[in-house]
Amino acid sequence: MRSQSQELNILEIERLKKEKNAIILAHYYQTGDIQDIADFVGDSLALSQKASSNSADIILFAGVKFMAETAKILAPDKKVLLPDMNAGCSLADSCKAEDFKIFIKDNPGRTVISYVNTSAEIKALSDIICTSSNAVEIVESLPEDEKILFAPDRNLGNYVLNKTGRDMVIWNGTCHVHEEFSLEAIIRLKKENPKAKIIVHPECEMPVRMVADFIGSTSALLAFTQNDKGNCYIVATEAGIIHQMIKANSKKTYIPGPPVDSTCGCSECNFMKLITVEKIVNCLKNEEPEIKLNRDILLRAQKPILRMLEISEKLGL
Ligand code: SF4
Repeated sequence: MRSQSQELNILEIERLKKEKNAIILAHYYQTGDIQDIADFVGDSLALSQKASSNSADIILFAGVKFMAETAKILAPDKKVLLPDMNAGCSLADSCKAEDFKIFIKDNPGRTVISYVNTSAEIKALSDIICTSSNAVEIVESLPEDEKILFAPDRNLGNYVLNKTGRDMVIWNGTCHVHEEFSLEAIIRLKKENPKAKIIVHPECEMPVRMVADFIGSTSALLAFTQNDKGNCYIVATEAGIIHQMIKANSKKTYIPGPPVDSTCGCSECNFMKLITVEKIVNCLKNEEPEIKLNRDILLRAQKPILRMLEISEKLGL
């Protein structure tokens, strides 16, 4: 049940969206109230696809900075807004352009595949971008003898390496949410709920991936809970996705996988949760903070993202 002030905020957002021809794109890790007011909710791949194909003048991105930057790179003539510029990403921050240039130089002759969870500068240094929805397929789309440099998530990189057996060197970065899942707590939950299936994002550490019944991107995990015959799931990814799982099937049970240091019992990305409905209202009203990128970096970053979208389209992803 929404309060009166929440209802007023939603009405104001609807009015501003119409007046300014704006759309709201929201990531699955946003809070449920934000997911519910968005024009489109998805994972990084779906949001990139949506950013590159819509007729709005303004995109308000309810997510983190690298996602809003990706939208700006794909829609440079649109105004792209991010309600809080502090909404960063520990994984993207683990890979700085100066260090990455050295890493590339130290590993010459490799095709550079970067995860979408990177800054525009890192994308500009890459040959192809991938998301967790298409990382395996992007690597497999390359000739078998092609040498690969993968960044920045070491867990996703190792997952892809195990799946494909390709020659890969991997940057040593992690996401603070996905590396924090407690194997012991997940096993304890499984003992308490023996019929529950453990579903895991590939950014999780190997021991957690090893106990998984299913591993997949956020959207793949959502689809799994919809199509699977089971009734109970221990979900090892950011807890925001559970909102969509409940919306799709409220009769099933979804237990958030607990992190090692748990005060709330679930794993939440503190960067994602910086975005609030109130900040969205102000951001739409004032049309700031706005994402602005150096033109040269934007154009160089565009190529590897377009390459990802082309490969994904060809493969029907
Ligand atoms: S969940 Fe992890 S990878 Fe995603 S935005 Fe938060 S810190 Fe970055």
